[in-house]
Amino acid sequence: MRYDDDYDGRNSFRTGHKRDKHKNNRWHAADSAFRCAHCRQMVFPTPEMGTVHRNHCPHCLHSLHVDTKPGNRASDCHARMAPVGLTWKKNGFDKYGRERLGDVMLVHTCLGCGMVNINRIAADDDCDEILAIFERSLAMDGKRWKCIEATGIDLLTAEDAGLLHRSLFGMELSR
Ligand SMILES: [Zn+2]
Ligand SMILES: [Zn+2]
Repeated sequence: MRYDDDYDGRNSFRTGHKRDKHKNNRWHAADSAFRCAHCRQMVFPTPEMGTVHRNHCPHCLHSLHVDTKPGNRASDCHARMAPVGLTWKKNGFDKYGRERLGDVMLVHTCLGCGMVNINRIAADDDCDEILAIFERSLAMDGKRWKCIEATGIDLLTAEDAGLLHRSLFGMELSR
């Protein structure tokens, strides 16, 4: 995915081609490197990514609003999407009726249009940055928190800190 080229228009203007959906798809191919529109670091495809389509920068975890549905690249917004919090992927209940520990998901909001989205965390995402996002989300103002919850996303709260550590690092938070 080379969404940075869309963001600053370098590629599209230099080649003189009109941007269309098919071209976008080619530029966003999962196997190409791109420069992050937020932290400006180069992002390279890695074997750890497996078959998962990379949709955010592994360093700062920002994304771009390029989809209307996951992976379709049909959005015309193309603004940056900031990671604002974390949520659990719903994984149902175990045989004791306890909620199963799902994967940690990133909650992004678009800085252009305000759309809220959730994205799976990738194996090479910066765990310290994930924790920093979690800490910041706990200080989010109540109105914004309610706006996100209104979209059906349950943000992680301080009570989830232990489970989050276990999920990210495979161990409990040492106190
Ligand atoms: Zn970045
Ligand atoms: Zn947007």
